Amino acid sequence: MDLLWIKTNPIIKSIFSNYVWSIPTTEKKVFLSFDDGPIPEITDWVLNQLEAYQFKATFFCIGNNIEKNPEIFNRIISNGHTVGNHTYNHVKGWNTSNKTYSKEVEKCEEILQQVAINNLTSKLFRPPYGKIKPSQSRNLRKLGYQIIMWDVLSADYKKEISKEKCLENVIKNIESGSIIVFHDSIKAFKNLEFVLPKTLQFLSENGYQCDIIR
Ligand SMILES: [Zn+2]
Repeated sequence: MDLLWIKTNPIIKSIFSNYVWSIPTTEKKVFLSFDDGPIPEITDWVLNQLEAYQFKATFFCIGNNIEKNPEIFNRIISNGHTVGNHTYNHVKGWNTSNKTYSKEVEKCEEILQQVAINNLTSKLFRPPYGKIKPSQSRNLRKLGYQIIMWDVLSADYKKEISKEKCLENVIKNIESGSIIVFHDSIKAFKNLEFVLPKTLQFLSENGYQCDIIR
């Protein structure tokens, strides 16, 4: 799967229908998601931005980062957002054995459960790089995970993309039900710092709500 597209094609959605690409809704509502945190200062900044609009989002956290930053992780939860599993070491499924991949998810899950101040009710998984083998996905779905992909990729992590282009990627492609991907990572911050406040303003001015993935 080539994941360089910005808006997920309906054909891809129907071929890979075991994955969640968007969440159909009759309301004017989108689902913001942030991958690769929690990271000091950056995740806090994202939380402050969301708080200003009372918007909720879903954070796909790396196990190793949760261990290093448990307070920030719990700020995500106490602010009413939801968290999902993004493996312990951010591994790429395509070049990882099924056994190792399952262990990576399991290790992240243990940390999620141990560190979280509240009981986590949903089992959400986003594969790092969007790269997961069908067999790995099957194993996780058997364990009750929903595999959460996306409808709109901001590509905020790409160095070569301008912040203006990144904003355009998001604003032009948003529709009700869209799952949108950002990254609360050091790498993406150059773009995120510009794009997120403007995206939130756009959503607010256009009457969108932002909800957690359940
Ligand atoms: Zn990631």
